[in-house]
Formats: sequence, structure tokens, C-alpha cells
Amino acid sequence: MRVLVTGGAGFLGSHLADRLVADGHEVVCLDNLSSGRRRNIEHLAREPRFRFVEADVIEPLTISGPLDRIFHLASPVTCIHHLARPIATLRAAAEGTRRILDLAAECRAVFLLASTSEVYGDPLAHPQVETDVGHTSPIGPRSAYDEGKRFAEALTVAYGRERGVAVRIARIFNTYGPRMRPDDGRVIPEFVTRALAGRPLVVFGTGAQTRSFCYVSDMVEALVRLAEADYTGPVNLGNPDEMTVLDLAREVIGLSGAPSRIEFGPLPQDDPARRRPDIALARRILGWQPAVPRAEGLRRTIDYYRKEEPPA
Ligand code: NAD
Repeated sequence: MRVLVTGGAGFLGSHLADRLVADGHEVVCLDNLSSGRRRNIEHLAREPRFRFVEADVIEPLTISGPLDRIFHLASPVTCIHHLARPIATLRAAAEGTRRILDLAAECRAVFLLASTSEVYGDPLAHPQVETDVGHTSPIGPRSAYDEGKRFAEALTVAYGRERGVAVRIARIFNTYGPRMRPDDGRVIPEFVTRALAGRPLVVFGTGAQTRSFCYVSDMVEALVRLAEADYTGPVNLGNPDEMTVLDLAREVIGLSGAPSRIEFGPLPQDDPARRRPDIALARRILGWQPAVPRAEGLRRTIDYYRKEEPPA
């Protein structure tokens, strides 16, 4: 098959590209390198079945040749990016998603949207189920990202209904692993790089807020299975293993053997108090559940940062 991965030089996209190339597919990776990095895909450059296109999904695109599958991951993701560039974030969600959906319609490709657990906002029910409609603010500081993704889901569903595109919607919960940028403010690379540098780990609020972390190879497996499943509604993908942020800080310190201490900082506005996916639907329709235990995933991640991105 010939597969397009937008956002393919990013964290998740580059692991997905690795997997698709290893499975024997021809992969076109498109990225504007705003948060993605060439180093994530450098090793694929010698693969004859891999091609990198530096482009922005907001701009008119020319991807020649047929496409069988499109994984649409291109988006500013982290608070650092979407708080600083809310317009680019909304444009990627609206204009970018429209362009890629048009391409999917033209090529009759299966289109998979990388949506997010952020569409649930600060959830009213716990754990989060696909039927929850969400509790978000259209004008809050995180609105460019979460409302953008909500619009992208609506547009995806509309292309499915009106244009007959075979659409898939992955509601991705916190995913982590090697290649996350050490400087992008996400909690795991932030804690790991601080621990490896022997600096304090800063926990927001009391650290009682919960998160559930999925290791990247599990997420890639889920995305590949979802693209092949005949299911057009949103599907939660993530690890239901929930923990407090304070316990995560303690675990990272323990596993890295760091002398770091824990400090506390102010809780950001709109920071969700609890986050855990209900993955019953993914279990049923994809026969999938996470396989990598947290301690093992954290160990692999710590090893990566120690070897590949050591503290300056
Ligand atoms: P990432 O920042 O590493 O990847 C996003 C990629 O998109 C980057 O390579 C970036 O350069 C590229 N990009 C951004 N705007 C673009 C544009 N206009 N045109 C072309 N490329 C553009 O983040 P990630 O964690 O790999 O996220 C990938 C996708 O998964 C995103 O859509 C994100 O919303 C979704 N997601 C990720 C998580 C997670 O925990 N990692 C959770 C929920 C949803």
C-alpha cells in the first residue's frame, strides 16, 4: 500500500512511519518541521520506500500518485506550541484537515484523524467514554487545540457522510516514548530530562491530578489496527493505567536513580483534573489493549534520553 503520514517527522508520526515501512508499505511523510525534527526520520532516508516532503498542510499540496491510507497527524500539539500560536493551531485543524480530507476523497484513501482526549475537556464523567460530549471552553487558553480538534472531528464525520470518505477517528490519550522533544513542556520528557540533569522536578498544584500514559509502540499498533477496522466513529486509544502526576515524578526519580527533589508550582488554567480512557470499544473492535507496562516504557524512555539527548 502507499501511505501518507502528515506530521510524520514528529514523535508519533515518525514511529508510525517506521512501522509502516517495516510492514512493507511505501510511505510519504509530510511535515512542516514546526515541532517535528529531521533527526526523527533521518534513518529512513536510505529506504527506497520512504519519501519526505517538507510542506505545510495549510498550503495547497501536490502529492502525486495514488494513496491507499492517510494518517493525518499534523498539528501543533503541546501547550508551548498551541498557546504561542493559536491561529496556526486552528488553521491546521480546520484548513489543513480540509485539504487532507479532499486528498483522501480524490484518492479514495482511508483517512484517519489523530484526534485527542482533549476533546473531552475537563471531563464530567470518569473514565472518559466515546459517547461523552465533552466539557470544553471555546474561549479558554487551550481552546485553539481542543476546539480545533473538535472541529476536525466534525469535518471528518461530514466528509464521511457527504462525500463517502472512509474515515476513522482516533481519540489519542497521553502517549510517550523516545523522540518526544525534550523542550516541548510535556510532562514525561520534562520530568525525565530534569531528572537526568539532577534538577528538581516541578509538579503543578498538589500533583493530585491524574493522567494515564500509553507507550508509543502500543499506540502505533492501535492506529494501524484502527485504519484497517471498518468503524467510522471516534475510538479512545490510550492506557487506562491511571496515576497521579506526583506519583509519576516519584517513579521517574526512582527509575533514573536521580538525586532530584520535587518542587511544586502553580496549576495552569483549564488543566484537566482527571484523565483516563475507557478502552472497551478499542478492545472490542480492534482486539487491542496496551502491552507495555509503565515501568518498562519509562525505562526505555529514560535510556533514550540518556543516550540520544543527554543533558547539555
Ligand atoms: P509532535 O509535535 O511530535 O507531532 C506533530 C507534527 O506535526 C510535528 O512533526 C509538526 O512539525 C507537524 N506539524 C504541525 N503543524 C503542521 C502543519 N501545519 N503542516 C505540516 N506539519 C505540521 O506531536 P505528537 O505527539 O507526535 O502528535 C501527533 C498527533 O497526535 C497530533 O495530531 C496530536 O494532536 C495527536 N495526539 C498526540 C498525543 C500524545 O500524547 N502524543 C495525545 C493526543 C493527541
